[in-house]
Amino acid sequence: MREKGNIEEIKDIKLFLFDLDGTLYLGEQLYPFTKALLSEIKNQGKHYLFMTNNSSRGVDAYVEKMKRLGIDSCESDFITSVMATSAYVNKNYPGLKFYVAGTESFKKELRESGVNVFDEYSEDIEGVIQGFDTELTFKKLDDVSKLLTLKDIPFIAANPDFVCPTEYGYVPDCGSVCGMLKNATGKEPYYIGKPRPEMVYFAVERIQSIDSEVNLTNTMVVGDRMYTDIACGINAKAKSCLVLSGETTEEQAYNSNYKMDYILRDCGRILETIKRGAV
Ligand SMILES: [Mg+2]
Repeated sequence: MREKGNIEEIKDIKLFLFDLDGTLYLGEQLYPFTKALLSEIKNQGKHYLFMTNNSSRGVDAYVEKMKRLGIDSCESDFITSVMATSAYVNKNYPGLKFYVAGTESFKKELRESGVNVFDEYSEDIEGVIQGFDTELTFKKLDDVSKLLTLKDIPFIAANPDFVCPTEYGYVPDCGSVCGMLKNATGKEPYYIGKPRPEMVYFAVERIQSIDSEVNLTNTMVVGDRMYTDIACGINAKAKSCLVLSGETTEEQAYNSNYKMDYILRDCGRILETIKRGAV
């Protein structure tokens, strides 16, 4: 398999921002190198955070999932599109009444962060937030369509992904549901999450508080999807590494216009490399 980039330079990376599905595991299957990679990063005094666009579950569900897969983590190890969405909404539309179309855990996290969350249609709703809704009903599509048609209000979506991987293939994600809403109403949301660079900025700021040597040039976004993970690294002016262990094929990677720094078989290659750099 062909690879791209001078892999030895990865030894200088201080902060790794890992996508999860397709990068560190696939569905319920942890990749064989993941555990060793995360320990090696810690042992070398480097850092990692998990950066996920999946807005269907709260951080607590991720901590649980990682535990099930044999990885100890805590809430501060995650940067999620839900966190980025609440930060964006609280900054730009504080106090506005939002109809939130998403899972119960999505609504709970937004509510706890201070967003004024509603899940019943009413005429005084002032905005719509769409998440990756694995509890989607036609009633929600109807409510959101009505709001977007009758009113000119902010329309925000937690993540632009079209599909989410499953063991058998894919299910429609937030971006696809927004496609349906656009067909019905002509309105398009403002997307948060990767590829917007804010998730990387959050991550770097968080780690800088414990390690002042970390900056964008020694931070690398690692993921298996080009239009979210790789575009995010590029937009943030951090390093970007595409791994071919998920949804992108070798052919797609080399035929794409994305200028990622590295294309690697999988994160096992990162493990081998930083091990060689250990002193
Ligand atoms: Mg992925």
